[in-house]
Amino acid sequence: RYQFVLSQATLPAVTKDGSFHPEIVANIGGVEDAKSAIDFGAEGVGLFRTEFLYLQRNNVPTLAEQVRAYQDVLKVMGNRPVVVRTLDIGGDKEFPYLGTQKEPNPFLGWRGIRTIRERPDILEQQFIALLTAVAQTSTSGTGSDLRIMLPMVSSLAEVARAREIFEEAQTCVRAQGLPLPDKIQFGIMVEVPAAALLADRFAPLVDFFSIGTNDLTQYTLAVDRTNERVSVLASPYHPAVLHLIDKTIRAAHTAGKWVGLCGELAGDPLAVPLLLGLHLDEFSMAPSFIPIIKDIIRQWSLPAAEAVAQQCLQFSLAADVIEYLKQQQPH
Ligand code: PEP
Ligand code: MG
Repeated sequence: RYQFVLSQATLPAVTKDGSFHPEIVANIGGVEDAKSAIDFGAEGVGLFRTEFLYLQRNNVPTLAEQVRAYQDVLKVMGNRPVVVRTLDIGGDKEFPYLGTQKEPNPFLGWRGIRTIRERPDILEQQFIALLTAVAQTSTSGTGSDLRIMLPMVSSLAEVARAREIFEEAQTCVRAQGLPLPDKIQFGIMVEVPAAALLADRFAPLVDFFSIGTNDLTQYTLAVDRTNERVSVLASPYHPAVLHLIDKTIRAAHTAGKWVGLCGELAGDPLAVPLLLGLHLDEFSMAPSFIPIIKDIIRQWSLPAAEAVAQQCLQFSLAADVIEYLKQQQPH
């Protein structure tokens, strides 16, 4: 059976009734993962975590180093979409040379896009590197589909400021005579409850959302994702989290924007009918999960998945949602 599933991996995942075709894409941390994403049938990259470039060193990577790292990934992915998340420092990832400090509550501290106030230069350099990489890759003919995504957004002001910096970076790269694509999609992660609750206000400012259920669960349920003593409480199936996911998708679709999900939930076979039924447009996961998730999607019809999703939203306990999902047979 698994041989069969693998043999179908590069085919699209269309629901059984033919009415819905979500994109199945990969979470990657560098070029090796990008290659494995292609092997496992990824239709693109839904989350490129750029932290790897900054790890295990004591200085900011040079522009040339950054450009090369992004180009390597863009080349492997050809014209498939590549969603690059700007640096998500802080939380459990410390980078002293960038100014992170010991904080009493690092997950509530100086993390992700919040660094933009003190260190806009880090983001600007990253934008310039990404734009230079896409300009040079496009010159060589592949027509890359680079998309930018901001982590840990909680305020509309952060999006406005980041966009300003992005415009400046574009001006700077164009001034060097480098050709930029007409359109580079600009989106945010929805991983702080504030962003989900105000999704209707964020939607007009962006091209897409990607729901980060790892952090969205942590922040909605007030459970430190690294603390094993309370990890039993940290379920993305908690109805409070499910309602935020539902709200986010609805708000985006009302504004004509697409929504992905790049937390671990997207690669969980149990969640497939639930996420299909909520009309999630893009599932992003570790490459090796792609064949099995595509296979399960093909076994469901959209109306059946919608009924499952609506039932899930009625429960009050994560355990009840999980128990119910375990009993569902694809149809
Ligand atoms: C998430 O929070 O769900 C996510 C995908 O980001 P990370 O796991 O890198 O924080
Ligand atoms: Mg996150």
